[in-house]
Amino acid sequence: MPIVTLQFPEVKQQTENRPERCKYCQGGTFQRWGKVRKPVRDKRYRSVQVYRYQCCSCHRTFRHYPQGVDRADQTQRMRKLASLMWVLGMSLRGVAVALSWFDVQLCHMSVWRDLQEQANKLEHRYRWQPVRVLGVDGMYPLVKGEKRPVILAVDLGNGQPMAIGRVDESNPYAVKRWLEPLVKRLGVSVIVTDDLNSFRVVAEKLEVERQVCQFHLRRWVGRDLYELRETVPKEWLWVLDEVKSLLDELPPEGSRRLFELWKLIPERRAGRNQPRSPLDKLRYLLIRLSEHWDSYRVFAWHNEVPWTNNGTEQAIGRLKMRSRTVRGYKSWQGMWAALMLTGSVLDW
Ligand SMILES: [Zn+2]
Repeated sequence: MPIVTLQFPEVKQQTENRPERCKYCQGGTFQRWGKVRKPVRDKRYRSVQVYRYQCCSCHRTFRHYPQGVDRADQTQRMRKLASLMWVLGMSLRGVAVALSWFDVQLCHMSVWRDLQEQANKLEHRYRWQPVRVLGVDGMYPLVKGEKRPVILAVDLGNGQPMAIGRVDESNPYAVKRWLEPLVKRLGVSVIVTDDLNSFRVVAEKLEVERQVCQFHLRRWVGRDLYELRETVPKEWLWVLDEVKSLLDELPPEGSRRLFELWKLIPERRAGRNQPRSPLDKLRYLLIRLSEHWDSYRVFAWHNEVPWTNNGTEQAIGRLKMRSRTVRGYKSWQGMWAALMLTGSVLDW
């Protein structure tokens, strides 16, 4: 997690200004209409001074709160502090207990409401901000005691998680249904994913470009090459070397070269029930890499596209970290709040 300076909303005991606009009619002139003391839950104040005003245009009255205070009985900084403690790994009850050391009495359900509110605020803030490059990845968190497939989307421009869905990443139809509205709303033009086939199908259907995460790619190709090195006839070992250097360098003409290599290797059909021969496996690897080549090097011509899905994996890591301390999530709502609030920016 990057180092962040936390900013907490300031809380004033009384208002220092008059209201600017009437919240009902936008009128700009008011008469003071008495004052009340409002009890608040805060580390410094027990109560604040709230003035009431009457609007000279529509004659309605309203309360004008001091900075950091609103209708809620907790001040804004207490709500933020409670959410932050939860994000860092405390349980709802743990937060309530810890705050009571500061003489702030909160029940665990108000802590729950606080973090839903903070997560909502974040979601609203990012809801319509354009996202050009979206990282997408699946995971299997523990929710209500069971491992369930989940997919999540992260703005790779700033690391902010955007959405989480109860979708199995290997099902292209489900992934498309979930991703389509997000891609449209945010104006996404590139997705970064691992090498799963479902993401290839979805990217084609949604007409977005797709960058395959190079970590994933190199991991599985490296494994295949390692295995083939032990098994293919010696006279073909140079092909493995060439595949390795193509992947290291990712040249634009790589697809054509892989296709040529594929044609060089004689095809020997294994019988129906026989396992594929090492040379067949090599042919399959070559044609697959050749066909997917473009999706390995989108980052080469878009400089805001990263070459790995690291930003999404970090968000997953933070979700898992919180999940471990609380032994899984008790609800989807809780997981959603954790995802929104553990965003790399943490500047809520
Ligand atoms: Zn008014």
